[in-house]
Amino acid sequence: MSAPRTVVVGGGMGGLLAAIRLRAGGHDVTVLERLEQFGGKVAEWRRDGWTFDLGPSLVTLPHLYDEVLRLAGTSLADEVRMVRLSPQFRYAWPDGSTVDVHDDPQATAAALDALSPGSGARYLRVLARARRIWEVSERTFLAGPMTGARQMLGRMSSPRDLLAIDPLRTLAAAARRDFDDPRLRQVLGRYATYSGSSPYRAPATLACIAAVEADHGAWYPVGGLSALRDAVVRAAGRCGVELRAGAEVARILDDGARVRGVRLADGTELAADHVVANVDAEHLYADLLPDRAAVRRVRAVPRSTSGVVVLVGARGTTGGIAHHNVWFSSDYRREFAEMDGGRMAADPTIYACVSSVTDASQAPRGCENWFLLVNAPPGADVDAAAYGPWLLERLAERGPDLRGRAEFVETIVPRTLEARYRTRGGSIYGTSSNGPRAAFRRPSNAGARQGLHLVGGSSHPGGGLPLVAVSARIVAEMVLGSAQSRPRR
Ligand SMILES: Cc1cc2nc3c(=O)[nH]c(=O)nc-3n(C[C@H](O)[C@H](O)[C@H](O)COP(=O)(O)OP(=O)(O)OC[C@H]3O[C@@H](n4cnc5c(N)ncnc54)[C@H](O)[C@@H]3O)c2cc1C
Repeated sequence: MSAPRTVVVGGGMGGLLAAIRLRAGGHDVTVLERLEQFGGKVAEWRRDGWTFDLGPSLVTLPHLYDEVLRLAGTSLADEVRMVRLSPQFRYAWPDGSTVDVHDDPQATAAALDALSPGSGARYLRVLARARRIWEVSERTFLAGPMTGARQMLGRMSSPRDLLAIDPLRTLAAAARRDFDDPRLRQVLGRYATYSGSSPYRAPATLACIAAVEADHGAWYPVGGLSALRDAVVRAAGRCGVELRAGAEVARILDDGARVRGVRLADGTELAADHVVANVDAEHLYADLLPDRAAVRRVRAVPRSTSGVVVLVGARGTTGGIAHHNVWFSSDYRREFAEMDGGRMAADPTIYACVSSVTDASQAPRGCENWFLLVNAPPGADVDAAAYGPWLLERLAERGPDLRGRAEFVETIVPRTLEARYRTRGGSIYGTSSNGPRAAFRRPSNAGARQGLHLVGGSSHPGGGLPLVAVSARIVAEMVLGSAQSRPRR
């Protein structure tokens, strides 16, 4: 009997990881990627000796990547030098105060006490709660496919689990109870943005990210995030996944009930028993397999935020910065209210990753690679030429003045993200976690036809490198279970 044939549409991280898992499970797998390079949002940009990650800059839970690399006969340690960062983040406020979050929670508690007496003990209490949320989430929300809250409840071992995940309060409401100091409320609230959401609308469950970072670390792959991507691409090739770049899928073919393959933009058809879609769910159901009911369901859930990325090749070095830095706005609530209204914030929080702080290969000697990221409402119409200089002025008001040191400034706006990744409005994480039910309304991993599965940031369990790895595991388990494939020897 010949091996089952799977086509993966889209070569982002979720697609590549699912491909490796399915190949290890005995399938013949082909990954079709529209762009000339694999990795999707994990991409780099180079100019005159400077290198920038265009997408993710922070890796959490790297063991999820190691697990897949091992299926391909290698390991993360064999492929990439991963650095566990400390400090993990340096936070700064308009009043000039700063605090570091360290790799060691006790050191973080001491730093918070120095900023705001008494907050160290409060932080450790938050962390204990966050650990419990993470423990429950791992064995319920992340344990398999999700078609509604009932499925999650079924995986809980007692009503205490439901209380533990704190789903009914918003993250901002929890932060108000946890900290007296409004600055620390911003630090906790910021975790909502990891899924492109607002702390004033996303559930307090997202506090679990504090435990993920404190207990499992904030990591950087030397060479940039593209080093992690390259390791995954190598592993896929090595275990026999067929990788085709520059291969745009125009249509997923079906017989009304079951998928039967794909048609490329050049008209070539590939037959398949299974199709795994790693593309944005809206692109899937609007363009590749038009299905009105499915597209309506996707559109009923609010999109995640997009972003404006400003890359600055800076001459010289800056005192007092870390690898990851955040300059908070003076009014967090107003910032998110403006975005809810579809506008760019007038006074935005600015995130800056300067990976040359850790990795000298990312900028010419004595220079820095500044990646600045500001949250943006999906579809925001931003003038790229004007925004970069404007943002450098805002940064100069609060901290480093890069204006006289910038060799170049390159700005990427939501419309660019939309065109490049085929995600409406340039949403970074698919749908958001805004609202207590949003997490259960993400497009399901089981597609609208038999043999179709969805993997990646726009489907369950959501966006971000760790979650797309979980999504790949869930999809591989669903496909291999349904196909009853023989494990490869
Ligand atoms: C600016 C930015 C910052 C981020 N920061 C972080 C961070 O610090 N940490 C973190 O964990 N995550 C971060 N993320 C999120 C993370 O990058 C994504 O969640 C993750 O990479 C998405 O992976 P995916 O599997 O959904 O695939 P994607 O990366 O979305 O890839 C999908 C692929 O499908 C391809 N495709 C689309 N249509 C077609 C078609 N018709 N035919 C063939 N191919 C097609 C696309 O070209 C693309 O390569 C960030 C993202 C961005 C943009």
